[in-house]
Amino acid sequence: MARYTGPVCRKCRREGLKLYLKGEKCFSAKCILEKRNFAPGMGRGSRNAPAAGKISEYGLQLREKQKVRHMYGVLEKQFRKYFATAVRQKGVTGENLLRILERRLDNVVYRMGFAPSRRAARQLVRHGHIRINDRKVNIPSYILRIGDRLTLKKKDLDLVKASVEAARKRSLPEWLKVDLDNRQGEVVSLPTRDSIEVPIKENLIVELYSK
Ligand code: SF4
Repeated sequence: MARYTGPVCRKCRREGLKLYLKGEKCFSAKCILEKRNFAPGMGRGSRNAPAAGKISEYGLQLREKQKVRHMYGVLEKQFRKYFATAVRQKGVTGENLLRILERRLDNVVYRMGFAPSRRAARQLVRHGHIRINDRKVNIPSYILRIGDRLTLKKKDLDLVKASVEAARKRSLPEWLKVDLDNRQGEVVSLPTRDSIEVPIKENLIVELYSK
């Protein structure tokens, strides 16, 4: 499937928000947002820089949608499909949307701490390192359900080792049960909005697609 392969830090600069696309670097002082927290080509004195308060309502909604798309690494067409599914589900559409995105296999591998970023997690999945309920699954967009058990085929990959050590220092989402030592985990419940720690106003995305 097609995916974005350009420079990723530009995306964070464009959104003015850490999207955590580069693993451990995102948590360090090396993150470019620490020094250049303005959109590419819109530095101080740039003729392109918008005047404060000039962004339209549509612009705000669009940016919010782009943030989520870039964060989870989802292309527009697939994002629209997720939104259509979220609308059909019971409950609050914006929360349903985030819940679907959170349960993508690449995101779950990342959330469990087996990869430093969603991008790296996607690679692990694509290369056949992930098993769900003892069956190999190499589709990053696979949506996990409650009770699904995830295991890593190889336990000693360098990338996984480094990521697991970093994950030990962070708290893991309550909807996942993870055994970092044995490189396995399970989805024990659906993620609640509070447990999805993304600084997103999902209602703006709903408004955008509801026009
Ligand atoms: Fe974004 Fe990470 Fe790059 Fe910082 S280091 S700008 S959070 S991708």
